[in-house]
Amino acid sequence: MSAGYLRRFSEGVLDKQAKILAGITKKCALCPRECGIDRTRGERGFCRLTDKIIMSHALPHYGEEPPVSGKCGAGTIFFSSCNLRCIYCQNYRISHGMMGRSVDPSELSRAMLELQENGCHNIELVSPTPHIHCVLEALSLACADGLHIPLVYNCSGYDNPDIIEMLDGIVDIYLPDFKYGTDKDSFIFSGVMDYVSYALGSIKKMVGQVGDALETENGIARRGIIIRHLVLPGSVTNSLRVLDLLKEHISTTVPISIMAQYEPIPSVTTHPLLCRKITNLEYETVVNYAVDLGFEYIFIQDSNDDRTLIPDFERNDPFAWVNFSITSQLHEKT
Ligand code: SF4
Repeated sequence: MSAGYLRRFSEGVLDKQAKILAGITKKCALCPRECGIDRTRGERGFCRLTDKIIMSHALPHYGEEPPVSGKCGAGTIFFSSCNLRCIYCQNYRISHGMMGRSVDPSELSRAMLELQENGCHNIELVSPTPHIHCVLEALSLACADGLHIPLVYNCSGYDNPDIIEMLDGIVDIYLPDFKYGTDKDSFIFSGVMDYVSYALGSIKKMVGQVGDALETENGIARRGIIIRHLVLPGSVTNSLRVLDLLKEHISTTVPISIMAQYEPIPSVTTHPLLCRKITNLEYETVVNYAVDLGFEYIFIQDSNDDRTLIPDFERNDPFAWVNFSITSQLHEKT
């Protein structure tokens, strides 16, 4: 099975979509914030990006769900900035701090090809939403030079469904977060009142493109979706609502990844809720609820493990000190 974007490349759709998306940055509406500024003239909206890519790292990543990381790693490209910027973000050094360097599409294309040459199973774009116009341009260049591994779109869920629609046939595997089940929680933790509707709308588009399952070959993801949810301390009700909404609007066959790895970053150590890790009881309550609702494929983590998973993006390898023995394992309905 070859990556979906190769067909789109040969049809000329990749280049066409890249141009349309670049046009949208002139009155930017790449994400739900719809800042309306002209990024091509150097104006900056909420994400503080002009129309150039800022890349933090491109490296094999062994800490994603097993079908995504496999043995050889996901070929992960971390982009700087974020259009959501949750106050507890574990990647805060690049999402809040904009750490990284400006690269042009040809350099990004070479980074993709290098990850493939290094044996990575896919190209995983992390927080690609505000960069997507340049990413498609880079992808097109990489296709011409032989890129063929699947493309993974790892996003916050705060996406514009119309933009997601434009990625039809280009993205092979979606890895969206579904962070909040209520707008009250999305406002408290991420400062937006419309997360739920945009995330659900975008996830529906993703499922419409790649289905509500994860296709694998020899255990490695080739096409499909995994919906991620990070359990936050003192917020079990939010997590249960997320699961209710997924059951109601998506399906219970869709693979979900319930993450226990929350850890307070320096800026929230005095926050009344976010100042601590989650408890085993909180995590088990959420996982058991998912099982009771009938979810069939659930990636779960060991909530007893107290090792850190916060990457240090000031290092060449931000994950060198992270022990991935707590990465997710699949719990399948019997
Ligand atoms: S991508 Fe950035 S500039 Fe564009 S709408 Fe979103 S936050 Fe605003």
